[in-house]
Amino acid sequence: MTVREVLRTKGGDVYTVGPGQSVFDALQLMADRNIGAVLVVEGARTLGIFTERDYSRLVVLKGRASKDTPVRDVMTARVVYVTPNRTMDDCMALMTSKRCRHLPVVEDGRLAGVLSIGDVVKAVISDKQFLIDQLEHYITSGG
Ligand code: AMP
Repeated sequence: MTVREVLRTKGGDVYTVGPGQSVFDALQLMADRNIGAVLVVEGARTLGIFTERDYSRLVVLKGRASKDTPVRDVMTARVVYVTPNRTMDDCMALMTSKRCRHLPVVEDGRLAGVLSIGDVVKAVISDKQFLIDQLEHYITSGG
């Protein structure tokens, strides 16, 4: 199963903040949208990604104030992304090796969606269930 197929079902919404917006604004957006990461963009350029983990480690534990800290100070600037033709196995391998739970999808230089680890696990499970159903049908129908 590919990233493109999963995005077709889940949609290609990308929630973003500007680099000068506060961490508080980013957290508010995450809460409103029930998500765990936002992309930091300026115009058409993606500058970074900011997730709940960054909030706990780089804001709370460092004693920073979320209303006085711009997202640019605590984002990850080197963003790992995927293209729509990649498979769910590729995504799992990337998320495991890079230790991240969010993968922006980029197509023709523009953001086309974001996959979370939850989206990937859901897609892999439904793919496996499909295979199980097919095999059961094969067995019970006599091959
Ligand atoms: P997460 O597990 O997604 O909350 O992210 C763990 C750490 O990796 C945080 O520092 C994030 O900013 C960073 N991170 C998450 N997703 C990505 C990504 N796609 N590219 C680069 N860094 C990321």
